[in-house]
Amino acid sequence: MTPRKPPPAAAPPRVRRHLTVRGAVQGVGFRPFVYTLAEEHGLTGWVTNDADGVHTEVEGPPAAVDAFTGAIGTRAPPLALVESVEHRAVPVTHDDGGFTILPSATGPGRTLIPPDTATCDVCLAELADPADRRYRHPFITCTHCGPRFTIVTGLPYDRPLTTMAGFPLCADCAREYADPADRRFHAQPIACPRCGPRLTLCRGPDDPGTLRDTEALDEARRLLAAGAVLAVKGIGGYHLACDA
Ligand SMILES: [Zn+2]
Ligand SMILES: [Zn+2]
Repeated sequence: MTPRKPPPAAAPPRVRRHLTVRGAVQGVGFRPFVYTLAEEHGLTGWVTNDADGVHTEVEGPPAAVDAFTGAIGTRAPPLALVESVEHRAVPVTHDDGGFTILPSATGPGRTLIPPDTATCDVCLAELADPADRRYRHPFITCTHCGPRFTIVTGLPYDRPLTTMAGFPLCADCAREYADPADRRFHAQPIACPRCGPRLTLCRGPDDPGTLRDTEALDEARRLLAAGAVLAVKGIGGYHLACDA
């Protein structure tokens, strides 16, 4: 008598859910956060920005989808301000392509742009580290700090709609931008000395800014010591500097 084959195991139940998150949820590392959260719970689906906020669709076991939904508001990144999370059930698609960040969609909306944020401690440590490739890089920034409001030219908040659009990422920056494990994953304003804006010093209306980088910095220090007033262009406007 041959042993009877066990019946095929029923496929575990799956559900799919669409969530819309509104508030200050762009430019704060929200899509990378959603990506990491979905991976953590073993869910498939996608996340995208539009001018209305962040949209995400996840699929997997009901308990995992519930846990994901609960964590969206409570574990949001530090600069995010979640005003509302709406969700509805959508048909299961049995997609098996993992979880992806889709290109942003444009359209009317009212999402909030976060303010510029002071350089974070991790970036400050890199700035002071001679072994770091952003050692003394004046435009250092990451997913959790740097310019936002100042550089936005439109919505949704993505690099092509910021004043950084004219600075294509070098290979190293592009790798950081695309790596979910990197702290600059999908950080829109990132750059480095090889690919970003450079320091320029203008010594009057007729000076096109011939001094650059450390030369500009050295001359600025000399001018300050000699009693000049400098206007330092930074995020959010100009900072006047003099020897008080
Ligand atoms: Zn930072
Ligand atoms: Zn770079």
